[in-house]
Amino acid sequence: MQEETTDDLPYISEAESQKDTNLPMQGRRIVDMMHFIQQLKKISSHGSLFNCNFNEMSLIGETRNGLISKYKFRCNMCQKDFLITSEDPVSEENIDVNLAAVTGITSAGIGYSQFQEITACMNVPIFSEKTYCKFQDVIYEKWETTAVEAMEAAAMRERDAATAEGRLTKDGVPMIDVYADGCWSSRSYGNNYKALSGAAAIVGRRFGEVLFIGIKNKYCLVCARAEKKQITIPEHACYKNYTESSSSMEAEIICQGFETSIAMYNIVYSRIIADGDSATYSKILARNPYPFFTVQKIECRNHLLRNMCNKLRAVT
Ligand SMILES: [Zn+2]
Ligand SMILES: [Zn+2]
Repeated sequence: MQEETTDDLPYISEAESQKDTNLPMQGRRIVDMMHFIQQLKKISSHGSLFNCNFNEMSLIGETRNGLISKYKFRCNMCQKDFLITSEDPVSEENIDVNLAAVTGITSAGIGYSQFQEITACMNVPIFSEKTYCKFQDVIYEKWETTAVEAMEAAAMRERDAATAEGRLTKDGVPMIDVYADGCWSSRSYGNNYKALSGAAAIVGRRFGEVLFIGIKNKYCLVCARAEKKQITIPEHACYKNYTESSSSMEAEIICQGFETSIAMYNIVYSRIIADGDSATYSKILARNPYPFFTVQKIECRNHLLRNMCNKLRAVT
């Protein structure tokens, strides 16, 4: 087994790692069982003149990087120190437990404080909020890359299927049907359009996979604070990318998807299956994304029913 090393685990500086040498060690930990047992086996049979075994060893310290720990053991017979880790730091195929936890938090749609609450009840010590934000940046970047790759692969599948069926424009560009819909925050159906962010997606009809997503934000906290305090806006990763009316966000994103489909994937979205609200389709027609081709519209049955219900309710 190796002697103590000073190399840091990924993403956390030495200053941020929390040293805890006050034994007995408190709380619970998450360990990679097989890795942990293997290391215990190794250090317990370290041999030497004294025929030492694990009974002679004491845990003398822990260096914790969030959920990952390094434990220092000392053999009371030969006075040698050994370091073992809660998981394999060089394992390529697995992301470490810190990143895994942040991925879980994000997937579950909760935040740091909820996670803190849960792990506090479980008596598992975790990372600080500052570190959590750093991990989140790493994950968002990975997700973005994966999303782009996945959407590209989905588009290729749709394109190949259309080509195989001979669904091509006069210029030989494959044509596919797509669903398009959006959502935006703090909007109640029918009357309130004050949403600050909106998202929309275009999904291929044949395989039901996302081909295009877009997010529009009308609000950025950093900009808003600077404006309110009347100071110059500091350099920041700004989230504000939209100034038009909230209700036009969805149509705007979907139009962008249509306008970039040839450049991105060499595909024409020939028919759109959209909601009963005709704003998106009218906007697509007005923008005329394919000068040689008019996009057609198919009504979505679900939205048709919803709109009918709304009208019926209005009548009563
Ligand atoms: Zn020993
Ligand atoms: Zn900003």
